[in-house]
Amino acid sequence: MADTYDLVVIGSGPGGYVCAIKAAQLGLKVAVVEKRKTYGGTCLNVGCIPSKALLYASESFAEASHSFAEMGIEVSPKLNLATMMGHKDKTVKSNVDGIAYLFKKNKITGLIGAGSIRSAGEVVVAKDDGSSETLQTKAICIATGSEVAGIPGLKVEFDETTIVSSDHAIALPEVPKRLVVVGGGVIGLELGSVWARLGAQVTVVEYLDKILGPMDGEVSTAFQKLLAKQGLSFKLGAKVTGVDKAETGAKVTFEPVKGGEAETLEADVVLVATGRKPYTEGLGLEAAGVKLDNRGRVEIDGHFKTNVDGIYAIGDVVKGAMLAHKAEDEGVALAEILAGQSGHVNYDAIPSVVYTAPEVASVGKTEEELKTAGIDYKVGKFPFMANGRARAMLQTDGFVKVLADAKTDRVLGVHILGADAGDMIAEAALLMEFGGASEDLARTSHAHPTLSEAMREAAFAAFAKPIHI
Ligand code: FAD
Repeated sequence: MADTYDLVVIGSGPGGYVCAIKAAQLGLKVAVVEKRKTYGGTCLNVGCIPSKALLYASESFAEASHSFAEMGIEVSPKLNLATMMGHKDKTVKSNVDGIAYLFKKNKITGLIGAGSIRSAGEVVVAKDDGSSETLQTKAICIATGSEVAGIPGLKVEFDETTIVSSDHAIALPEVPKRLVVVGGGVIGLELGSVWARLGAQVTVVEYLDKILGPMDGEVSTAFQKLLAKQGLSFKLGAKVTGVDKAETGAKVTFEPVKGGEAETLEADVVLVATGRKPYTEGLGLEAAGVKLDNRGRVEIDGHFKTNVDGIYAIGDVVKGAMLAHKAEDEGVALAEILAGQSGHVNYDAIPSVVYTAPEVASVGKTEEELKTAGIDYKVGKFPFMANGRARAMLQTDGFVKVLADAKTDRVLGVHILGADAGDMIAEAALLMEFGGASEDLARTSHAHPTLSEAMREAAFAAFAKPIHI
């Protein structure tokens, strides 16, 4: 008789592996099924981790090329792309190996193969060698993530050489002379920045009339200006009508969303980064009776349960922000629920970060959202130009913006454009998790000289007056 598990997780991305580890820590008998050769999902294999390795390396190259001299360091950096890709590959390997180690440490059974649900309580694992194994389990967690969405209503032939998705834009064998990025969202701007820093002439074509759609409008406008200074060009309000191979490279055709003449851009490489869609292929959801919503996401209730008892879902495959830490938070909460505790995710305090230079980070509501909701708010802003540490680091671009309730002073949103914004936003998320006010932030001692003093000053600006401006 085969072992019976308390929980079988399908997919080992940040949602699945974190759920598995937490559940094992809480005493559950757990197995994880993963169809890639390595654990860690999109995030560790082709997403967050490799892109950040390339962003860090390319930013170091750009700094050495452009800003070291101002500090008296004279170097003539030369790019070795193969070594830079090696750095990325080593980073990925150490991270995915780390997950295999954590599975062992927590006595989690890891199975490489495609998982499908035969019924509540039964997962079939189809292995590469053609064999299969059936796992009996009390609970199933679908954590199968997402895949590249393509362009709605347009057939794009990804040859992954000249017309590429993010999976391959992190592994180009040489720097393209001209790169067109379709989609001015996080992934497009991060990977566009990587190649721009390494010498590509990058043009971003975006349907909306702003980059980073859901971000605070003021931040988005200021960010676009900084990227333009770095050499990126933008075609906004542009509806792409064709992405095709050309004699050499590829071409992108687009027309103004508001109507007008079509335009065509030629490129050596086109990166289509127009978003991701939930991945449920081959899971057997229809046969198992698991409902999807109108956007193809697995439908869940407030406790991650699908319409079928014993089957749960988390991460990119369900509604909400497609972010690794959102998937992780849901993984922890679901494990706690399955172990009889009360797991919970506060969706109002999930930060989001763009790891460009400067970085963009935000948590909570934007000004536009507050206006739409009719909430009376006050704004506190502070520029990094007036921060001593930022000047010492030659990182004076950007600002911190704190949005607080006009009556109660409770912080409703924080938006940062600036160096290390991604690390600084954690303080704002913590503050919001505890329902803190801008006065709480302003009265909290911040070490001097640090970039985070700009956060405190922005809070001072919201609640009283900033000191240093
Ligand atoms: P995934 O990480 O997608 O993992 C799902 C796993 O399930 C995959 O490994 C897949 O092979 C497996 N699977 C699917 N079907 C089956 C099956 N039937 N049987 C077995 N296994 C199966 N997010 C951030 O928060 N920060 C970032 O900096 C960031 N950068 C990104 C950069 C890029 C280029 C991309 C593409 C994404 C980035 N993301 C980032 C998003 C992040 O990767 C996702 O939000 C996150 O990976 C979602 O986690 P998940 O566990 O839901 O799914």
